[in-house]
Amino acid sequence: MNSFAGPVGGAAPIIADKAPMIDPFGRAVTYLRVSVTDRCDFRCTYCMAENMTFLPKKDLLTLEELNRLCSAFISKGVRKIRLTGGEPLVRKNIMFLVRELGQHVKAGTLDELTLTTNGSQLAKYADELYDSGVRRINVSLDTLNPEKFKAITRWGDYHKVMEGIDAAQKAGLKIKLNAVALKDFNEFEIADMLRFAHGRGMDMTVIETMPMGEIDEDRTDQYLPLSKLRADLEEQFTLTEIPYKTGGPARYVEVQETGGRLGFITPMTHNFCESCNRVRLTCTGTLYMCLGQNDAADLRTALRASENDGYLSAAIDEAITRKPKGHDFIIDRTHKRPAVARHMSVTGG
Ligand code: SAM
Ligand code: SF4
Repeated sequence: MNSFAGPVGGAAPIIADKAPMIDPFGRAVTYLRVSVTDRCDFRCTYCMAENMTFLPKKDLLTLEELNRLCSAFISKGVRKIRLTGGEPLVRKNIMFLVRELGQHVKAGTLDELTLTTNGSQLAKYADELYDSGVRRINVSLDTLNPEKFKAITRWGDYHKVMEGIDAAQKAGLKIKLNAVALKDFNEFEIADMLRFAHGRGMDMTVIETMPMGEIDEDRTDQYLPLSKLRADLEEQFTLTEIPYKTGGPARYVEVQETGGRLGFITPMTHNFCESCNRVRLTCTGTLYMCLGQNDAADLRTALRASENDGYLSAAIDEAITRKPKGHDFIIDRTHKRPAVARHMSVTGG
């Protein structure tokens, strides 16, 4: 179906292609994740080193350029955009981009605009996010204990995040809590987090830690296979597989005792690449076709080469032909180096 929407906030009209982009393995690419900044107000131990070197501000695409890039993807069949980072809500004037992209949701050219956030700025932005067309967000939270929260985020304030969650729910945003499962940290707390999340009407997802970027710790000490976590949870809860999907790699179960949903994202123990529908854009205009591979395409040059989107469209098409079949993350004592050198904050998970 050919859909047309009028000019959005001064951007070119969006004329959606008849068909979505298809990669060499027959997968439709309909989901774009955009890391709007590599900076963050936290320093989670599994994500960043404490002393990080961030990109010089001059290397960043402007928000207008990011909007143009996102619009090009929408015109090529992308139906869902997630803003991430670093912490997306610390990028200056980020609400400009949220409002612009929200216009696509309102016009029906985008099914969903969402974001993944650490929650620190939610109290400030929750209402505006809702007004812009955002309906669901992911909030990352690894513990309900304020001291442990400080230990894992190094710089975060637990109470601020809780205020953010309150504000988001009050604004009408549906929240999914994301927790990274960490051995000897939150291994035995996930059950309580589940009761907390489901008690407040939030879904929850647990994620295996992935070997991305140099951090200050040994990842072997942090890695907890979700198969073990699940077996532990099954001693307290009745978990039933359900076909629920949110367009991501999580496999969901329903928890009989709480009536809520729990998702498992298992990049290490179970490979989900066969259904991968996404590509990842960084704040410098680099497109990664796979989270777990180094190959990337430079879209900034194509973007800046012309005001016409012809080059850009061709560069995107070429990049999609390079989308690999999958990743092969390994964490063990013999693999001391991360599978990919860049940190998760570059591509936003
Ligand atoms: N700052 C935002 C946040 O924390 O939600 C968005 C960016 S953060 C990189 C996105 C997600 O990636 C978070 O849920 C975080 O816990 C997760 N993450 C970061 N590093 C990870 C790693 N090495 N393995 C698995 N998940 C990771
Ligand atoms: Fe920041 Fe998110 Fe990484 Fe934590 S996980 S350091 S909040 S980007």
